[in-house]
Amino acid sequence: MTIKQLQTATTAKLKPYQSARSTDLTGSVWLNANENPYLNPAIKGLEIHANRYPQPQPEVLIQAYADYATVAPNNVLVTRGADEGIELLIRSFCEPSQDSILITSPTYGMYAVSANSQNVGVIDVPLDQDFQPIKDDISAQIAATKIVFLCCPNNPTGSRIPLETIESILQLAQGKCLVVVDEAYIEFSAQPSAVNLLEKYPNLVILRTLSKAFGLAGIRCGFVLANTDIIQIMKKQIAPYPLCCFAIDTAIQALQTPYLAWMKESVKQINQQKQSLQSWLKETLSWTPLCTSDTNFIAYQFDTEVADSLFFFLAEQDMLVRKFDTVQPSQSEIRITMGTPQEMSQLKKYLSLFFAKNDNRTVSNAGVTV
Ligand code: PMP
Repeated sequence: MTIKQLQTATTAKLKPYQSARSTDLTGSVWLNANENPYLNPAIKGLEIHANRYPQPQPEVLIQAYADYATVAPNNVLVTRGADEGIELLIRSFCEPSQDSILITSPTYGMYAVSANSQNVGVIDVPLDQDFQPIKDDISAQIAATKIVFLCCPNNPTGSRIPLETIESILQLAQGKCLVVVDEAYIEFSAQPSAVNLLEKYPNLVILRTLSKAFGLAGIRCGFVLANTDIIQIMKKQIAPYPLCCFAIDTAIQALQTPYLAWMKESVKQINQQKQSLQSWLKETLSWTPLCTSDTNFIAYQFDTEVADSLFFFLAEQDMLVRKFDTVQPSQSEIRITMGTPQEMSQLKKYLSLFFAKNDNRTVSNAGVTV
């Protein structure tokens, strides 16, 4: 099956929305978009023309991200966060009430949420005990799915999938369905991106975001990297102006050399903090992480009852962590995102307190196999 045949019948019939700014028209008098011709002088310092609609796919931003990701500009689609990329993929390639996506739990919740909200089925092929996809089980479901979502590095476990495994899944999906590799946390990983596989696999899609390593979750800027057929199909479903001008301006600045250097330095610091928290937890509380984390968080597994009381204990101290359940019965995980050094010291203090309060109960997770 070609990529074009994979899109829904509804998407196939669509023509991309031609907004006033998406046309190739040039001119200096813009009377074609019902904008206000006046710009409030209070925001002139930003040199942003907020009275005008922004470019739908801003060329400067697309070029800057293409350079960063080492792909061509026509392999890039900018979206309102990677979340919009997920939603658009499902909308463009899955027919409601008919098609399904495949997820490998435990994984990022938005794949299923987006599918459910669009009345698309969700086939779950859980990861194995080392948090790796089970190829044979995926293969058995491939004919029943339009999109396989792989998250690497994975949220909420932090685990990564070796590139060879990703490639073998791409091979079994070739001509049958898309394989989406969500690389929201790729900057924190020592493993290279799957981006070099794009040339070989027309059915590969990579999701990226400025929300994590770039420290820009507030601007809602994500990217889809894929072959042009896929990008063109998704353009038929995207909203006319997915990003506001302030987000575009900030994102462009974030892809310049000085900001990139800051981003890389902050990734280094966050990874060091992760190492140091992990060592402290091992030495002080004998806690072993769920698995090696290639992200900006670490997950620890406990009996559900312990995880619940730890979660609420920290919440009482005004400290929020995330609790989730893996497939293992009566076990739950606590996922800790790295904060500032000060926040990490506070966390250690509260964890020591929790441990001291509960030392007559099983709060050690030393028995967990990782
Ligand atoms: N993918 C993964 C794996 C994530 O963890 C997240 C954010 N939690 C996203 C995508 C969404 O990112 P964005 O903020 O760009 O929508």
